[in-house]
Amino acid sequence: MELLIDGKRISREIKDELRERMTELNARGVERCLAVIQVGSDPASSVYVRNKKKACEYVGVKSLSYEMPEETTEEELLEVIGKLNSRADVNGILVQLPLPKHINEDRILLSIAPEKDVDGFHPVSVGNLSIGRPGYVSCTPAGIIQLLKRSGIEIEGKECVVLGRSNIVGKPMAMLLLRENGTVTVCHSRTKNLKEITRRADILVAAVGKPKFVEADFVKDGAVVIDVGIHRNEEGKLCGDVDFESVAPKAYAVTPVPGGVGPMTIAMLMANCVNGVGE
Ligand code: NAP
Repeated sequence: MELLIDGKRISREIKDELRERMTELNARGVERCLAVIQVGSDPASSVYVRNKKKACEYVGVKSLSYEMPEETTEEELLEVIGKLNSRADVNGILVQLPLPKHINEDRILLSIAPEKDVDGFHPVSVGNLSIGRPGYVSCTPAGIIQLLKRSGIEIEGKECVVLGRSNIVGKPMAMLLLRENGTVTVCHSRTKNLKEITRRADILVAAVGKPKFVEADFVKDGAVVIDVGIHRNEEGKLCGDVDFESVAPKAYAVTPVPGGVGPMTIAMLMANCVNGVGE
């Protein structure tokens, strides 16, 4: 491996740029405000929400926090979102997922005004991405594009293979790589001859949700391997979808877990809040 892609450093660089831009905006009397809604007290969600608030503070984005009890009804949540949609001082609304089982996630995501959909999950945002119009882009795949660009890795003309087709990672990742003029293949659980396809990749993005699934024989010599997965092993240590020890010697560049893709997601959320639609 020649390059260990440092997501911590790159995310800090982006947050510092955004902080400067916020200072300029504030000097012109412009503010940004993100409303974060959490329903229930899932410990992992609480950590994410806390980190999002910390990032807002660092960058200079105001944040409003709605901590709603587990038994909140769908109607009550819709009412809060409706009010935030009509508040001129709020430019981003984020509902932390997963929601409790009795709340229909689709209905909630659809109720967020697309111009405040900083997570990029609304069908309008997804549609805009697919047809190449400006709009919010899902933060994790947007962060991966930044990791590649800021590491000097060219995407244009490259064979890009995305392992996974979820709505929040795999599909938007494929659309973004296509927008950057990559030649894109998407693999999933029904793909036949998986390794033959992944071994063609100049850039391989693993978003499969299975610990250390991608081993050395999935990877072409000199490939760039991006690991989206986050898992905790029996000893409580974090690992990704890629078996780093076997893949690293074969690849040109790899993202570590932790410290690769993970920190980029919040940085790109901040970029969406500061820059608005079109970035
Ligand atoms: P997901 O919704 O579970 O999707 C997994 C995808 O992998 C599905 O498309 C599935 O195919 C495919 N898949 C499963 N088993 C496979 C197999 N044996 N061969 C080929 N394809 C297979 O997961 P996700 O939400 O995209 O997340 C993926 C990983 O990234 C998870 O570990 C998650 O924790 C992590 N993640 C990290 C961040 C971050 O900020 N770093 C953000 C989001 C997610 P089917 O569609 O056919 O079922």
